[in-house]
Amino acid sequence: AAPKKVCVIGSGNWGSAIAKIVGANAARYDKFDTTVNMWVFEETVNGRKLSEIINTDHENVKYLPGHKLPANVVAVPDLAESVKGADILIFVVPHQFIGRVCETIKDHMKKDAVGMSLIKGVDAGPEGLKLISEVIRSKLSITMTVLMGANIANEVADEKFCETTIGCRDKSYGSLLKELMETTNFRVTVVEESDVVEICGALKNIVAVGAGFCDGLGFGDNTKAASCGVADLITTCYGGRNRKIGEAFAKTGKSIEQLEMELLNGQKLQGPATASEVHQILKQKNMLDKFPLFTAVHEICFNSHPVTDFIKCLQNHPEHM
Ligand code: NAD
Ligand code: 13P
Ligand code: CA
Repeated sequence: AAPKKVCVIGSGNWGSAIAKIVGANAARYDKFDTTVNMWVFEETVNGRKLSEIINTDHENVKYLPGHKLPANVVAVPDLAESVKGADILIFVVPHQFIGRVCETIKDHMKKDAVGMSLIKGVDAGPEGLKLISEVIRSKLSITMTVLMGANIANEVADEKFCETTIGCRDKSYGSLLKELMETTNFRVTVVEESDVVEICGALKNIVAVGAGFCDGLGFGDNTKAASCGVADLITTCYGGRNRKIGEAFAKTGKSIEQLEMELLNGQKLQGPATASEVHQILKQKNMLDKFPLFTAVHEICFNSHPVTDFIKCLQNHPEHM
């Protein structure tokens, strides 16, 4: 069979770390076309185009500084152009941009491509909550899979050991995608419960913002752990960007938007927006009182509810009644 062509759609912190892995594996294995396109949302960095910096210096100096990308990863600033001929589309843009991305590639991509979403977030539409993979599937009519895990991009790029999960209902794609993604230090498990993998990845970001509030307000580890679950949730509550901004929010009183601009250098938070999308759905379903943590993060981030009341919001958790 002809080698499979891969396109990474997105080149932020995670997109770039993943391009490092995918680029290396595409070069290593015959079943993948060695050239991997990576769509770059073009911007000027130090007076140069980011796509040119990546193609010349092989480093995404803005979103993943300090790591070389394989030379066979080619930065393409034209989104429609980047997906041409690709058999495997890896979606890794901040979730707020996915609608526009799908519109743009729809008429340029292979109709029988398989997609894999690495995007953590949800969509709140009039008919209720939609997973991002569902948004993509419904706009592009392709088979969709997901990959999520406790995977802080900088640590993955440093080749520090971690695990991740591919959610793939159609088993026939599982082994191909595992081969594309796995390295000795990035271990992949494939499961059929794709929706569970995806919803956990999305919702943990809201909890991470709350964990940041706890740190910013000077609470102890017990307080912070009161909301904790497993793996990705723990990782994000210690090392992630959502937690970091939550802490700064509680300490400075600045808005989420302003802190994102000041502290993340163009990187995008998913937690506050996800809290807002989940809030819409819970409200529709009259379930706000069943999710006090999600509700509190939303009220604090967007409705001027004082962050100092964060714990008060949790003291009436239905689990305690
Ligand atoms: P990022 O937050 O580091 O970077 C933001 C990206 O968005 C940049 O590539 C920027 O060029 C691009 N962008 C800005 N404006 C845009 C626009 N109008 N349209 C399209 N793109 C635009 O990105 P990331 O960390 O790669 O995050 C992508 C997804 O990966 C998110 O859903 C995130 O939750 C998830 N994720 C991130 C990590 C991590 O550690 N960074 C780990 C796992 C999953
Ligand atoms: P942050 O977006 O909070 O940095 O979390 C990254 C992540 O999803 C780790 O798995
Ligand atoms: Ca190859």
